[in-house]
Amino acid sequence: MRDSARFTGRGFGPGLPPAGAEIQARWSGEVLHLETWPEAGRAVRAEQLTARRQGAGLLLEWDVPGGRCALALDQGVGAGDTAVAILRRLAPAQAGTARGDARTRAWLWASLFLLLGLPILLLGLFFAFRGELVDLLVTQIPPQQEQRLADEMWTLQRRQLKLIKGSAANQLVEQLGARLAAAAPTPYVYRFHLVDDPSINAFALPAGYIVVHRGLIAKAGSAEEVAGVLAHEIQHVESRHGLRGMVQAMGLSVLWLAVSGDLGGGLAGDWIKHLAAMQFSREQEIAADTGGHARLLKAGIDPRGMASFFDRLGKAQGALPEALSLLSTHPASSERSARLQQLMRDAPPQPALAYDWVKLQASLNQAAPAPRPAP
Ligand SMILES: [Zn+2]
Repeated sequence: MRDSARFTGRGFGPGLPPAGAEIQARWSGEVLHLETWPEAGRAVRAEQLTARRQGAGLLLEWDVPGGRCALALDQGVGAGDTAVAILRRLAPAQAGTARGDARTRAWLWASLFLLLGLPILLLGLFFAFRGELVDLLVTQIPPQQEQRLADEMWTLQRRQLKLIKGSAANQLVEQLGARLAAAAPTPYVYRFHLVDDPSINAFALPAGYIVVHRGLIAKAGSAEEVAGVLAHEIQHVESRHGLRGMVQAMGLSVLWLAVSGDLGGGLAGDWIKHLAAMQFSREQEIAADTGGHARLLKAGIDPRGMASFFDRLGKAQGALPEALSLLSTHPASSERSARLQQLMRDAPPQPALAYDWVKLQASLNQAAPAPRPAP
């Protein structure tokens, strides 16, 4: 606080116009110097002065032989250092009130920030760090809860799929799948399903539900090619890519998930369809390719089928409209193909899988879809 602060006020009193006049003043702490007051008595000692607050300003008064004089300070009492300094000297109790006003205003601003600013800030942070938040949440979901979620999703939504049961192709998918799943420890129970759908596709729900379309078996050139796709999908499950995609797609309700930990609440919606068309990131696909390749080798299956299947689909892309499902989620880019080829180059040879491929594909046409479960 500066004691000799200069300020401007409006003066009233003998010798001044009735509407008052602008006065340059200075406060020394003991004396009010009225530098532009028109007549004598330009210095008023503190003990001659009374001070009172007037609205947001301050009114200083003193008596002179010709009458009463006054100086009005417009500046807000809380905001003006000079006014507070004068009040503190002349009316300490009122100076306290002025400080109280300043505190009240600070509280009002803080409350306003908490009410409006904080939610906006949190929302901004949510969108800025959404990926990190999703990653963090996914690590907090135990595999048992993920399994319960997937079981429930399957029970509720499998009616959307025309399941085929008991065919040679079912056997193929189940046998290869079980062999690949057993190649490494897993917290999940794997289940492999065949769907009567001519499009070339395969996808995974969280926690080990893997769905293969009939069209994929029909287009594959060998059991090794089917095994390649299954190994890739199993890696998506093991890395929880589908679960992550679900948590991400839940949007702001992810915040609710963070608070409640209840993932089941997010089950409303056609998640099976959503997962069938879900596009993973480039990094996730690389992880699924690389992990799938290692898994094939551990299971004693030639991993070259993985590369040859995607390569063949990529080359036939234009002529194979039914290939669009798998290719839309797994673009057959030259980069991906080169990476797969690189992986396969050093793979040790494995004995061929013992399936009569021609007979197996022929059996697909005879396979009657299992009746849909009653709603
Ligand atoms: Zn994939």
